[in-house]
Amino acid sequence: MCPAADDRRAGETAEESDRPPGAPPAYDPWAAAKERIVAACRLAKVPEEVTAVLLHPERVVEVAVPVRLDRGEVVVFTGWRVHHNLARGPAKGGIRFHPALTAGEVVALAADMTLKTAVVDIPFGGGKGGVRCDPAALSLGELERLTRRYTVGIASLLGPDRDVPAPDVNTDERVMAWLQDTVDLLQGGAVPGVVTGKPLAVGGMRLHSGATASGVVRCVRAALSALGRPVAGQRVVVQGFGKVGRPLAFLLASAGCRVVAVADVAGATWNPAGLDVGALASHADRTGSVAGFAGGAALDPAELWAVEADVAVPAALEGAIDRSQAETLRARLVVEAANGPVTPAADEVLARRGVTVVPDILANAGGVTASYFEWAQNRQGYRWEEALVAERLGRTMDEAFQTVWVRAEDLGVSLRDAAGVVAVERVAAALEARGVFP
Ligand code: GLU
Repeated sequence: MCPAADDRRAGETAEESDRPPGAPPAYDPWAAAKERIVAACRLAKVPEEVTAVLLHPERVVEVAVPVRLDRGEVVVFTGWRVHHNLARGPAKGGIRFHPALTAGEVVALAADMTLKTAVVDIPFGGGKGGVRCDPAALSLGELERLTRRYTVGIASLLGPDRDVPAPDVNTDERVMAWLQDTVDLLQGGAVPGVVTGKPLAVGGMRLHSGATASGVVRCVRAALSALGRPVAGQRVVVQGFGKVGRPLAFLLASAGCRVVAVADVAGATWNPAGLDVGALASHADRTGSVAGFAGGAALDPAELWAVEADVAVPAALEGAIDRSQAETLRARLVVEAANGPVTPAADEVLARRGVTVVPDILANAGGVTASYFEWAQNRQGYRWEEALVAERLGRTMDEAFQTVWVRAEDLGVSLRDAAGVVAVERVAAALEARGVFP
C-alpha cells in the first residue's frame, strides 16, 4: 500500500500549509488530524500501511436534507455521516448541527473518534455526522423535520452493529429521541442500541448527560496528582458553559477548585476570588449567557486564556487556542474538554513553554464511554444500577489516564503523542488481525 499519497503536509503545521498567499491563517481540522495520525503512527512504529489506512476515511456520505420551513418555503441543508475506521467495531460518534460545519471537519472528528474509542479501549470504530445549519434560527418543528429527514438520509448506514450516533455540539437527547423514533419507524419495530444519549424514557441512561464533564474532572484530578499538585484551591478558567462546560464548572467548584473565569459565545466573566457557579448558572438561564454576570467583571473572551490561572479547560469548539493565545496562556495545565481545541501550532508553543496538555481523545472520552454503557444495556435489555455506571466510568477514565501517562514517561513524549500511540497500536492490532480484503 502506498503510504498516503495525499499526505503532503505531514510535518508542517496546518495553519501554515493551508494558508493561501495573502489570506489570513486558516485552520483546517482534517489536515491537523492527519498530522496527529502521522505523528502517532511514526512514534508507535506501526507498519506504513496502517498509517495509509488511517489517513483515508472508510466512508464519507453527503446527504441533501430538504426541510419545509414554517413559513412554507423549502430549504435544502447539507448533512454528512462519516465512518473513519471500523476495525475495532461499529462506528461511534456524535451528530453536530452547526452553521459552519464542513465535510473536512466531520472527517477530522470521525478520526478523533477512532482514536478516542481506542484510548479508552471500548469496542467501537470512529464515526461522526452532522448538518450544516443554524439550529438557533430554526423552530422546534423545523428542527424535528430536519433531524428526521437527515436520519432517513443516513439510515442505511445506521444500526447497533454498524453505526451508533450520539449527541454532539448543538444536539441533545431530544434530537436523539427523534433519531431513534425515525429508525424504529423505518424498520417497523424497535431497534435498541442504534443511538446513545437518548432520554431515559426511550432507553437512555441517567448519567449520560454529565459523563463528559465528569470524565474531564477525573483527568484534571489525575493530572494534578501526577504533577504533584493539590486539587483544592487551583484556579481554573473554562471556555464554554453548555452541555460540557456548565456541569464541569459545578464539578470543579465542588472539588475545591476556584473557577476564576468562564466564557461563552456571547461574552466572559472573571472573578479572581472565584465565581459563584450556581449564581452564574441562574444568570445564564435568565439571560442566555454568562456575559453581564453581576458576580464577576466583564472580560473580553479573547483574553480568557491570559487570565491568571493554574488550569485551562477549553470546553467549546475546535481551534479555541491558537498560536498567539498559547503564548499568553497563563495556566500550567490544559485539559481539552472540547474536540481539537488546541491548534497544532499552539500545541508546539505550549510544549515549548512546558505546559502540560491532556489531549481531547483522553480528556473528553467520558462521554463516549458512557455511550458504550448505554449501548451495552440496550443490547442486554437490562438496566444497570447507577452506582455501577459511575464506578465503571471513573475506573475506565483513570485506567486510560494512567496508561497514557506511563507511556508518555516511557517514550519521553507529550500526553497527546502518548495517547495517539496507545490508540494507533490498538487500531493497528485490529487491522493486522483482520488483514486486507480480499
Ligand atoms: N460527541 C461525543 C464525543 O465527541 C460523544 C460521542 C458518542 O458518545 O458517540 O466524544
